[in-house]
Amino acid sequence: MRLSHKLFVTLRDDPADAEIPSHKLLLRAGYIRRIGSGVYAYLPLMWRVLQKISQIVREEMNATGAEECLLPQLQPAELWKESGRWDTYTKAEGIMFSLIDRREQQLGLGPTHEEVITTVARDMIRSYRQLPLHLYQIQTKFRDEIRPRFGLMRGREFIMKDGYSFHADEESLKKTYQDMYTAYSNMLRRSGLAFRAVEADSGAIGGSGSTEFMVLADAGEDEVLYTEDGKYAANVEKAVSLPADAQTSPFTNFEKRETPGTDTIDKLGDFLKCSPTQIVKNVLYQVVYDNGLTVLVLVNIRGDQEVNEVKLQNELTKLASQFAAKTILSFSVPTQEIIATWAAKSLPLGYIAPDIADDYIAGSKQVHSKFVRLVDQTAVELKNFVTGANESGFHVVGANWNEQFKLPDLVVDIRKARPGDHSLHDSTQTLQTARGIEAGHIFQLGTKYSQAMGATYTNEQGEEKPLVMGCYGVGVSRLAQSAVEQSYDKDGIIWPVAIAPYHAIVTIPNIKDSQQIEVAEKLYNQLNQAGVETLLDDRDERAGVKFKDADLIGIPLRIVTGRAITNGKVEVVKRATRESQEIAIDEVVNTLQQWVKEAIAG
Ligand code: ATP
Ligand code: MG
Repeated sequence: MRLSHKLFVTLRDDPADAEIPSHKLLLRAGYIRRIGSGVYAYLPLMWRVLQKISQIVREEMNATGAEECLLPQLQPAELWKESGRWDTYTKAEGIMFSLIDRREQQLGLGPTHEEVITTVARDMIRSYRQLPLHLYQIQTKFRDEIRPRFGLMRGREFIMKDGYSFHADEESLKKTYQDMYTAYSNMLRRSGLAFRAVEADSGAIGGSGSTEFMVLADAGEDEVLYTEDGKYAANVEKAVSLPADAQTSPFTNFEKRETPGTDTIDKLGDFLKCSPTQIVKNVLYQVVYDNGLTVLVLVNIRGDQEVNEVKLQNELTKLASQFAAKTILSFSVPTQEIIATWAAKSLPLGYIAPDIADDYIAGSKQVHSKFVRLVDQTAVELKNFVTGANESGFHVVGANWNEQFKLPDLVVDIRKARPGDHSLHDSTQTLQTARGIEAGHIFQLGTKYSQAMGATYTNEQGEEKPLVMGCYGVGVSRLAQSAVEQSYDKDGIIWPVAIAPYHAIVTIPNIKDSQQIEVAEKLYNQLNQAGVETLLDDRDERAGVKFKDADLIGIPLRIVTGRAITNGKVEVVKRATRESQEIAIDEVVNTLQQWVKEAIAG
């Protein structure tokens, strides 16, 4: 491709609305244009990158025996009503764009395709003989994200590879899951990315496990905890660890103490001269279930620990059926104003005890009249602890479970693991922290969708069983931008060769020089014929401008048909290292072909 014939516009300055380097660079280098909030045009250079990544993804998927297909983006609401997700997706979470057609039929734009694929499976899979099966697609997804940001990182329209597998049993699912683990690792490695596979939260249903593939970068929205020995890595939402040991309580007798102005753990520890590990902290949460019922939740946890709200929400989702609900609509730490909407009397906030009475709640049709009480394991083990006295300005010391306070029936792990904590698998290892961009997620779904939608098969014994499912997603457009976030310098993008839009660019410093043009044209044609994808910068611009642009767009190899041609040579510069060398014109094609081959084999 000749730059003189190309839609090629680069910007000198950083666009105002871009925050992170990769977003700025993709805009400046003319890869993408913002069309609306979270909506981008992928311009020709970007489209080549996306196609290269798609091809790597496709090759790795096909190698596992999965088959490519294309599913509709326009999805009938009925399917989502069958699975029970329509209201949550269009109203509660609001992530799904929905519309009504001219026949007054409700439709949604696909944020994901479990419902569609499960319908296909329900209609077409009859027997265990057809299993296992794995279908995937590479397609645009629509999600009305609350905070679209960082360009392609969190778009409202983005490209995803999503795959769905169907199995007769868990064992077969686990095998495919392992194959996907390998395939995903291969995809990211081949795309030239530094990444980490981490244990991920599977929500309340997925006891069976999921893995996220995190591209390591400071701009990542996720926190990853891992150990140096490489044996443990998890998303902080899911991570477990050993809490530090609690110190022995200085209080041996139970008594109430006046503790003015101690509504935080730190102030209380200072005032009573005790360790936060000797305090039972009581934290109030509020959850609204999908039937509209508000439930107040009191969590007891050791004072030095924090609640992992993802783990807590999973526990509360498990309780949904007790309240005749299916799932959670919203979850929060209630503000004073919200508390006022259900409190029968003023709560001793900051001084709440584990036995705070249910009559603080003015129960109603919309508000459950009792607290749901959960205790984290760290609080269970404490002796002679300090906690609130249910009276502003007062605490109790020397308290024990099942003496002064009844231990809640629900003992759970809802503690947040933190960097520096000792690891469970080996207590000499401490957790380290890193930021990551979630590029892929593989998930053992089990029978959630097949059961809800009646997708069954007949097993060898002639019994009808729900299909066991797995799902596997990789964000193609997010992955592309992650590569830039991981690899750039002050002058621009440095693409990994395997996903660069072009491998090489031939720059003609002076287009008035016919000899330069002749050599450049020849190399441009020969390189392309030899499979080295090459651009030709034949624009009527100063050499400096051309070099700057080549750096900005990040093409791995630059060939300059400058002064050296009088000696039968050209200058070749590697973008990543800036290493420059003169190569005989006759040897350029072979040398570059070899370099590109080696870099891609990586
Ligand atoms: P996130 O937690 O970042 O919102 P998710 O858990 O919603 O991601 P999945 O539903 O598992 O993501 O989708 C599979 C993949 O699609 C993700 O791993 C990510 O790479 C990509 N992806 C998800 N949402 C977006 C988005 N809004 N923009 C770009 N890529 C996305
Ligand atoms: Mg999401």
